[in-house]
Amino acid sequence: MKILCIGRNYADHISELNNERLSEPVVFMKPDTAILKDNEPFYHPDFSKDIHYEVEIILKINKIGKNIEAKFAHKYYEEIGIGIDFTARDLQSKLKEKGLPWEKAKAFNGSAPISGFVPKSQFSDLKKLNFHLEVNGNTVQQGNTEMMLWNFDEIIAEVSKYFTLKTGDLIFTGTPAGVGKVVVGDKLTAFVEGVEMLSFEVK
Ligand code: ZN
Repeated sequence: MKILCIGRNYADHISELNNERLSEPVVFMKPDTAILKDNEPFYHPDFSKDIHYEVEIILKINKIGKNIEAKFAHKYYEEIGIGIDFTARDLQSKLKEKGLPWEKAKAFNGSAPISGFVPKSQFSDLKKLNFHLEVNGNTVQQGNTEMMLWNFDEIIAEVSKYFTLKTGDLIFTGTPAGVGKVVVGDKLTAFVEGVEMLSFEVK
């Protein structure tokens, strides 16, 4: 399976990083070795002094498809979850400066903690889904999918032009403002519509 990630999908996060707003979404990937499940702890790597959390809604692809039209995209995911797109911001800044690929900063071991998945049918409106992240009990990021520049269906249409989607693939759909650094001992807890779905420690 593969993990596709969308960058710069929330206007408020684009401005906090002084990024340019692009006419197409930024797409990058993580390998399956990035995944942490069942609330496993995240072990802070030594190669970075500035690992940031980015809380994101995740789509789980449920059938194979390519060149999917946005109007049919809803048929390609039945379940959603929430996860953290851990980012070594110090490495990413260096790589960006040199115009180099982001993998070392985005795709390292444990960089994708994910929740369990729940049927999308349990939410009344996926275009107005509230989610938030708490660090040590304090809310640090709060998002609503209506703030996305590209919605779930548009994301699937875009990425499936380049990558055949297969059952079990995951798509991280971008983070709202409020990203920040984690330190050893932090406890991260992520919620969808106020319901806790993911909780783990940084070790
Ligand atoms: Zn992200």
